[in-house]
Amino acid sequence: MKRTLSIALSVFAALLIICTVFIYIGYDKFMAIETVEHDPQLEIFLGGGGNSIVLTSEDGSTALIVDTKMGRAAKELRKKVKAANIIIVNTHAHPDHIGGNALYKGAHVISGAYTADQWHAMAGKTPFPDETVPENGEKVLKIGSETVHLRNIGRAHTWQDLVVYLENRKMLITGDLVFLNMHPVFNNAGGCSAEGWISALDSLSRDFDPVMVMPGHGPLSDKYAVTEMKEYFSSIRDALDDKKQLQYLRKKYTHYRSLPPMSGFDMTVKYIKGERKG
Ligand SMILES: [Zn+2]
Repeated sequence: MKRTLSIALSVFAALLIICTVFIYIGYDKFMAIETVEHDPQLEIFLGGGGNSIVLTSEDGSTALIVDTKMGRAAKELRKKVKAANIIIVNTHAHPDHIGGNALYKGAHVISGAYTADQWHAMAGKTPFPDETVPENGEKVLKIGSETVHLRNIGRAHTWQDLVVYLENRKMLITGDLVFLNMHPVFNNAGGCSAEGWISALDSLSRDFDPVMVMPGHGPLSDKYAVTEMKEYFSSIRDALDDKKQLQYLRKKYTHYRSLPPMSGFDMTVKYIKGERKG
């Protein structure tokens, strides 16, 4: 009896160690940053939470940061920003996109027009933004010679998702409206709406003509990233009552990364089904 108990305890301990290592490796991978120097004014930081950009004016005085990452990646990003005037745009209020806001004292923070309750339900104690863009509204900023469009696309991945378009560079920053080569993350508490998400992707395809697309998570891409995400959602939605087709789609998307327990093929199916039932 004693022996059985000690074997069981050893197996449990071994499993615990294995799980810890796997979680650590996954977290470590999630927190790693890849830097892309697009041009002297534009640096792109992939990973470390949500993808980010830093766009600095030619005279070095002003920097626009889109999404501030989280944890140690947020601190790494902070070190890269030298300008005195800082504008932060948060595509949405999830912790992996707003986690570094507090590191930029005196920065001007802009997001979609969340209510304070919606914001704090997702962003915790991170202060409410200084300025919000109304639903379906647009704000235009000049950062040096670049014209930057901030568009509030409405309820999709969260209650109020912002996308950013750099007009001269023809670069679209989608926030988490696009997860490239990954199953998307859903969050009821954040106001996520699969139907809203599909129509938001439609309007991105209709209203912008980018040569480069930066998703919220995943590698740099082009218009393909938007159409791929739309195809993913609409094909799963249209196959909900067709087991054979769902099986086919499950195979089609096996190369997509999952972030258990937050995302995966079955979670997408479950989420869209739940939304259909209301
Ligand atoms: Zn998100």
